[in-house]
Amino acid sequence: MTWLILALAVWGGMPGAPADSPVPTSIVVATTRGQIEVPVLMERGHPALSVPRLGQLLPVTAEVIDEWAVVAFADQPFRFLLGASLFVFRGRVVPLVGGAYVARDTLHVPLQWLTEYLPRMFSEGYRYDPYAGRFEEARLAPVAPPVVQPTLSYRSPRAGSAAARNGFRMLHTVVIDAGHGGTDPGNPGRYLPRGVHEKHITLALAKELRDELEKGGVEVVMTRSGDTLVDLRDRARMCREDCSAFVSIHVNSLKPTPGYENISGLETYFLSAARTAEAARVAAMENEAVSYETEKILEEDDPLAFIMKDLHRNEYLRESAQLAEMIQESGARIHPGRDRGVSQAIFTVLSHAERPAVLIETGFATNRQDARFLTSATQRQRLAEAIAAGIITYLRRYEEKVLAGTIP
Ligand SMILES: [Zn+2]
Repeated sequence: MTWLILALAVWGGMPGAPADSPVPTSIVVATTRGQIEVPVLMERGHPALSVPRLGQLLPVTAEVIDEWAVVAFADQPFRFLLGASLFVFRGRVVPLVGGAYVARDTLHVPLQWLTEYLPRMFSEGYRYDPYAGRFEEARLAPVAPPVVQPTLSYRSPRAGSAAARNGFRMLHTVVIDAGHGGTDPGNPGRYLPRGVHEKHITLALAKELRDELEKGGVEVVMTRSGDTLVDLRDRARMCREDCSAFVSIHVNSLKPTPGYENISGLETYFLSAARTAEAARVAAMENEAVSYETEKILEEDDPLAFIMKDLHRNEYLRESAQLAEMIQESGARIHPGRDRGVSQAIFTVLSHAERPAVLIETGFATNRQDARFLTSATQRQRLAEAIAAGIITYLRRYEEKVLAGTIP
């Protein structure tokens, strides 16, 4: 997992307390507002500090949601998986010698987070003197933003010019993924014109969708804008911290069985365990693109990768489901085929997205009416408008929830 290795390399070499220094029984937190002594607790086998105690002088707030503690320092969220020796910051897993935990209804964070990581991230704002056991505000310098470049998070409303155009209060970037491409043509579909494959339809629709979203004040990143093959995993990785949603576009098709040409319609998937045999079939079909790739990176056995993936699944599952609902509702209104609704399945292309992610099966190339709909530029344009409308509805509702504080 490339980014994870990079993250570990970046974070691995940090200077900490001198190796031979004993764990202090307390540290001093000193700021322009005064100073306090904070006891260092060893109750879980590693040095830890009470978060409320730190919050008396430092810009720390915390919230525990299920097995996760979100600790914000100067408005930067650090996510601690309770009991696990790590935290997650801006999508990166950072290993620790011990984890955060709750004791006596109080959240505790590892001393290491405060003494090693915060001074590095807020290097102009704070420093830690391991010999004096002092964590102190750099008095003469204003509190600087973290070393990590702030990304365009949709949790931080920005007056972006594109966003302002359509009344958005935050800047949104949507990654549009035109399914297949290059040596992977996707399905040839019985009713697609000669020489036209799924990859051609998905690219045409993706470009139309891009134009519609941009008109609506949303920024767009395309996983491909030509006839190239992009690794399924790399597609979703384009949707990171500064991405509002990942939308993958496909065309369905069926193997010849009695009556198969009558099956039609639009269906939107989000990532979850497949609930039906049909969902499993579609996932298997779309995941097949992996076999077109020449190079494979095995990463499924990486425990940190698993934790990250699990985190993102939990966090974005509900959002993904809502995005899928809104796209499906809007698209089905104009689609000539059946409204096949929202389904869940494990798609490789979605499992690497770090934001709400959906996959749209825009119709069946094995159905005459659907194929005609998808190959008509005029009709496809209507579909692009409808999908864009669904995405924009989702983004607006998301903004409302964020601004109302109902999303952590
Ligand atoms: Zn496909």
